[in-house]
Amino acid sequence: MNATATSSRRVLRTVRGQPTSDGAGVKLTRVIGQRDLDMIDPFLMLDEFRSDQAGDYIAGFPSHPHRGFETVTYMLAGRMRHRDNQGNSGLLTPGSVQWMTAGRGIVHSEMPEQEDGLMWGFQLWVNLPAADKMTAPRYQDIAPERIPEIAPAEGVRVRVLAGRIGEVAGPVSGVATDPLYLDVELAAGARFAVPVAAGHNAFAYVYAGDVHIGPADAATPVARGELALLAREGDDVLVAAGDAPARLILVAGRPLGEPVAKYGPFVMNTPEQIVEAIRDYQSGRF
Ligand code: FE
Repeated sequence: MNATATSSRRVLRTVRGQPTSDGAGVKLTRVIGQRDLDMIDPFLMLDEFRSDQAGDYIAGFPSHPHRGFETVTYMLAGRMRHRDNQGNSGLLTPGSVQWMTAGRGIVHSEMPEQEDGLMWGFQLWVNLPAADKMTAPRYQDIAPERIPEIAPAEGVRVRVLAGRIGEVAGPVSGVATDPLYLDVELAAGARFAVPVAAGHNAFAYVYAGDVHIGPADAATPVARGELALLAREGDDVLVAAGDAPARLILVAGRPLGEPVAKYGPFVMNTPEQIVEAIRDYQSGRF
């Protein structure tokens, strides 16, 4: 291989999410942060929620705390109301994203603002480096129209939530792990090589149709509901639809390589910091 050749990352393995419930009984699929896939540094958790049965989501996520990381909610369908203990409130609508840096602590609720119809989206947890875990909480509430949509190849549409493709940058900014978060739609037969930063961990999660991922001579079939964990070596991620349209999210970020102490909604570096988080929360210091 000569110095100017690019290479596509291979799929190390595919993982299917586990059905579970969280909050006050919301049914969802946990893709990262489960038995078969603990984490992909710096990504701690990925949930897909998708149901048109109100009973699966109506109870929502009543008041609960977070400390030490960031939660990223991306809505495909439905409406979710966000409120916190500082008086902040926002409505997540289809196509919007909320990037919430919990930092030293927030207490919030995430409740459906609909009584029927489809609720569909993702929540991703992104770790913070040790130096930023006790930073001030911060919200980036991004309306759908602020997310650029590009057509980088025939039959390919990409919404850039975070990071950049060429000259097009997503609206989310100032995140420690320098993330890339793309929503990719492929027409039947379409293919696209997504550039990914050197040394960053990357994964793709297919949420509609089937996609072949990886170098043309060693592509791996990835079905709806499967995550493809990508090798760290390579310059891009090649995604190709079969004879039907397909959709996926592609996410990458700088690994932290720091110790992780995780207890429910608290993600710190040491067990002592977890004890401190629980104490601070119980004594109303969030
Ligand atoms: Fe939450």
